Amino acid sequence: MLCHLGNNSLTVHAPAKVNLFLKVLGRRADGFHELETLMVPIGLYDTLHLEPASFEHIEFSVWGHGAARGGKSVVDQQSEIPEGRTNLVVRAAETLREATGTSAGARIVLHKRIPAAAGLAGGSSDAAAALLGLNQIWRLGLSQAQLHDLAARLGSDVPFFLSSRAAICRGRGEIVEPIRWATRLYFVIVRPHTGLSTAEVFKHCRPTGSKWSADDLAMTLAKGDLGLAGRQLHNCLLEPAATLNQDVEQLRRTFARLPVLGHMMSGSGTSYFGICTQRKHARTVAARLHATRIGSVFTVESRP
Ligand code: ATP
Repeated sequence: MLCHLGNNSLTVHAPAKVNLFLKVLGRRADGFHELETLMVPIGLYDTLHLEPASFEHIEFSVWGHGAARGGKSVVDQQSEIPEGRTNLVVRAAETLREATGTSAGARIVLHKRIPAAAGLAGGSSDAAAALLGLNQIWRLGLSQAQLHDLAARLGSDVPFFLSSRAAICRGRGEIVEPIRWATRLYFVIVRPHTGLSTAEVFKHCRPTGSKWSADDLAMTLAKGDLGLAGRQLHNCLLEPAATLNQDVEQLRRTFARLPVLGHMMSGSGTSYFGICTQRKHARTVAARLHATRIGSVFTVESRP
């Protein structure tokens, strides 16, 4: 979501996502996992402010959740937001410079609200936002297909965020098939106090089955049958994540006792979500979760 501020500077809102369905089909020869996942962008955003600069480097600062400045401190290393060249925003900028040969500089400020190491793909969304924003302010004129190639180099979830629409993603995540349905989804999401490294969870994952597929779930959503959709939620990373992190196991048990349409872990965790019937229902469920002090609780909607 690009928003011009004048003077050629831009603000880009980078949404988080949740996985309503995630199946690992196997491990490929290149070391990546073959996936089938249905992802939905949600109304929880990081914000990037970008402006072109006369100098030839990237000046980057990060504030907010998990950052050293202006945010809630975090308890584990993987939940920390890197400040320098390892931040995915800076990597996206450097990738664009290498691919196009531009020596343009930029000032970039990232405001984090999406917790890291949470299965909400905040870092991937920030990277996509940086690609889209810099392509504009540096007037590079890269096509969607060219941006897609660069996005896939940066990470498996990054191509999804170039359009930020609900989609079934295949391959290692880079084959993005947008899908549509009319019903808005209301989520309660809990990010426990600790995070999980995506690589660690995948290392322990074994392909497990579900009698449903991502296409089945997409069809159910298109029919507006949220009761059935709740039962079709699936994530084969849940078992390894719950073994590695007790907070995930506790969330699974807690959500099982709550009046939600369905519940599941997102991505490689540790965030866990429930689907509610409407906003008021989501707030009631959120209040009960707040009382358990198990982590940060968000009520959000799927992005229209
Ligand atoms: P996924 O659902 O794709 O597994 P995630 O929510 O588990 O993603 P991210 O928030 O995308 O994880 O971050 C993963 C790691 O990437 C973090 O542990 C962090 O050290 C690093 N990272 C680099 N840049 C960023 C960024 N801009 N925001 C968040 N994390 C970043």
